[in-house]
Amino acid sequence: MSWRRRDVLAGLAAAGALTACGAPASTRAGAPETPEPATDKEAPMDASSRMPVLFVGHGSPMNAIEDNRWAQGFAALSEGISRPKAILAISAHWFVPGTYLTSNEQPPTIHDFGGFPQALYEVQYPARGSVDLAKRVRGLLAESGAELRSDWGLDHGTWSVLRHMYPDADVPVVQLSIDRRLRAAQHLELARSLADLRDEGVLIVGSGNMTHNLRDAITHMRTGDTSTPKWARRFDTDVNAALEQHDTKAVLAHDPSVSDVGRMAHPSPDHWLPLIYAYGATDENDAVRSPISGFDWGSLSMRSVRFG
Ligand code: ZN
Repeated sequence: MSWRRRDVLAGLAAAGALTACGAPASTRAGAPETPEPATDKEAPMDASSRMPVLFVGHGSPMNAIEDNRWAQGFAALSEGISRPKAILAISAHWFVPGTYLTSNEQPPTIHDFGGFPQALYEVQYPARGSVDLAKRVRGLLAESGAELRSDWGLDHGTWSVLRHMYPDADVPVVQLSIDRRLRAAQHLELARSLADLRDEGVLIVGSGNMTHNLRDAITHMRTGDTSTPKWARRFDTDVNAALEQHDTKAVLAHDPSVSDVGRMAHPSPDHWLPLIYAYGATDENDAVRSPISGFDWGSLSMRSVRFG
């Protein structure tokens, strides 16, 4: 465990390691005006075929290669979910001044951290991209000026989780960036625009952490103190209650820009905003539950939430 105490500390302290861590149904030409009976493809999907939405607390990059309770939890997240046609991932680690979509046919696996064991740098997650999905999302987010980019790929916020959920990497993945210039309410509006994707076989996955105060987490690591501070437990509990009640006002009241405890939980909003994207793509008809909960490194909430 020496890497935990020494190398990881150095790695996490390294710059950016975990902080920056229908168209109408067509008719044949010449066909009568009377609509033809809808085919299966044209029929609206029933409620049970609407995809859920996930928020995943990814935690340490090491969860990608360790067989621990978090990794086992990630693997179980795909249970009970219809096989997605594609995944749209919103990772804390693509926090940039703009709204972008990966448009690579074969997005590279990005090892966006420092100071970890070599084995972690050797991980590849060779899921294909989906230009079609990227363009579809660009259309949904047209008012935001979303752009396609091929100079990013899948960062560890995405692949450290997906390699457990879909180990064969056989579901195409597109990442959506988080525009660091926007406020939470603006992110929420963008996320609402994504909800239709759920009826198109797309699994939306926000990947961050419910609490993410790296300074505090490092202090816990240094001292070996695994106790969870009151502020972290309170924030985690209160936000989860707001999610379960679909209380948007209460969710936004925890935003670090307006809340002292929010700032404590998220000195930087990068790991908070993926939750806003996940929540924003849901509605009051979605059941809310947490397949994973608990804390790592004392104050790092590993809660994952399934909506729907
Ligand atoms: Zn992270």
